Formats: sequence, C-alpha cells, structure tokens
Amino acid sequence: VTDRLSREDRSKLMGRVRHSGTSAEVAVRRLAHGLGFRFRLGRRDLPGSPDIVFPRHRAVVFVHGCFWHHHKGCRRATIPLTNREFWVAKFDANTRRDADVLAKLHELGWRTLVVWECEVPDPVLLEQRLLRFLSGRPLGA
Ligand SMILES: [Zn+2]
Repeated sequence: VTDRLSREDRSKLMGRVRHSGTSAEVAVRRLAHGLGFRFRLGRRDLPGSPDIVFPRHRAVVFVHGCFWHHHKGCRRATIPLTNREFWVAKFDANTRRDADVLAKLHELGWRTLVVWECEVPDPVLLEQRLLRFLSGRPLGA
C-alpha cells in the first residue's frame, strides 16, 4: 500500500478534526454550566480522560468528533479516498478503544454519555439529553 497522503497533509487533517472536536466540547461545557451543573475537566486518572466529569453525579461526558471517532451512519464519518486502508484501520482502532473506555468506566461505576459533534448545533436536543442524563433517567428517545 502506497502512502499517498503525505505526513504533512495527514497532520493538517488531524489538526482540523481535533480543533472542531474542541469547539463542540466548549459548546457542551457552556450548556452544562448554564444548566447549573458542576463539572471538572481533564480527569486523567479516569479511563479515556473524559472531556467533562460530573463528580456528584458520577457521570462523564465525551464529546466525540464524528470523523475521528467514526460516528456510525453519520454523513461526517467519511473515509478519505486516499490511503483508505490506513484510515479504515485507524477508525477501527479508535472505535474499539472508545468502546473499551466506556466498558472500563461502567465497571468503575461511572455513567457515560457520548455527545457527537453533529448533535451539538441543536441546543434544545442537547439540553434535553444532558438533563435526562444527569438526572439519572434512562437515555434515548
Ligand atoms: Zn455525527
């Protein structure tokens, strides 16, 4: 397999993805703060270093970029045409690691919520999900 995507192109692409994930994370944090929930950031002692941690609720939120974490069925979860095998392997590894992290957190008694980047632009839906999650009621519609 030839590596048609140069190292530079790849790091540029990854940088862009990480950046968009970060702004989605800020939006979720702002919303949680506005709802009056206390949270902490960057708890590196927890599996997967969750983006937002609500210690009193023993709950964590991950804000996942749809591309990077390969949101199933999402139109943002594209696979680049060049160097396809690299990306497929990368996304497989990421997806497996994400599932593993959630399982570990559940074992430790933490509840988890994954917010996808594509869900962030809908503040009403996001607020409902956060409230439902943090008040401990079952997730899903
Ligand atoms: Zn998505």
